[in-house]
Amino acid sequence: MRIQFIGLGNMGLPMAGNLRKAGHQVTGLDTAPRARDAFIAQGGHIAASLAEGAGGAEAVITMLPAGEHVRAVYLGEHGLLRTAAPGTLLIDSSTIDIATAREVAAAAAKAGHEMLDAPVSGGTTGAEAATLTFMVGGSETGFARARPILAAMGRNIVHAGPSGAGQAAKMCNNMILGISMLGVCEAFVLADRIGLDRQKLFDIASNSSGSCWSLLKNCPVPGPVPNVPATREYQPGFAAALMLKDLKLSQLAAETAGAATPLGAHATRVYEALAAAGLADKDFSVAFRYLDALLRDKAPS
Ligand code: NAD
Repeated sequence: MRIQFIGLGNMGLPMAGNLRKAGHQVTGLDTAPRARDAFIAQGGHIAASLAEGAGGAEAVITMLPAGEHVRAVYLGEHGLLRTAAPGTLLIDSSTIDIATAREVAAAAAKAGHEMLDAPVSGGTTGAEAATLTFMVGGSETGFARARPILAAMGRNIVHAGPSGAGQAAKMCNNMILGISMLGVCEAFVLADRIGLDRQKLFDIASNSSGSCWSLLKNCPVPGPVPNVPATREYQPGFAAALMLKDLKLSQLAAETAGAATPLGAHATRVYEALAAAGLADKDFSVAFRYLDALLRDKAPS
């Protein structure tokens, strides 16, 4: 298929590369010269404008930082809804708020396009290995059209429900992740203080009811699990700034819908404090280092 891919950053670049490997004809677009150069270095072709790229494309995928970028690319004066040929399948894989996802999809439908929200989980390693999970919001027919395209970039492709349901699933998942990571970090901080060996805690908890992804796959202390960000000075991985963004989206949704999420609210405050302390660019498991430093003066020597 002829596909336009907009947003060739940490996630978009390897995703677009996997579409090319699967035999699709991919035209890339990004406002950052560095991202464009990286795509060209892969052998990719860059469009001169949204109009050039979208004009001949059967599908367009966007992988942009936040809701405002998605609005600009779809709804702007020279945006996709004006430049894409009628009937083009539009897939937004950025993580954004539900209201923007629904508003842009409704505007796309009015302009004669099928649009899906299809945020992902799996991080940059999943993007590179084509093992992402896609959570898709939109119609059954749109999902059926998108599935073979998404299969070139991911392993689990789930239809979460109507428009916005993909973003809803993504923010619920990442609220669990933010809370569970803080729980695991707190357990290691406590273990250190009360004299329990980290490896022993890992061996026991990973086979007990405390087991979870944050412990098994992204263990926040160096040692028990090889190659996790904690073993390389918390280089992401999944940046704490992105976790904070997702937690804020969950709290916006909780406030709008009237859902009580006190732990989600608390996790948001912890990640805000951690970002203010200069750790936003580190992997989100850096919460261990942040919590470890708190109350240190009161810890027994
Ligand atoms: P990124 O900042 O690395 O990439 C975004 C790209 O979009 C940049 O290259 C930027 O130049 C480009 N861009 C911005 N505005 C543009 C415009 N108007 N037109 C064209 N290009 C534009 O971000 P990322 O890490 O690739 O994340 C992208 C999305 O995926 C975010 O919503 C993020 O929350 C989500 N996500 C990221 C991860 C991760 O581990 N990095 C995991 C899951 C989901």
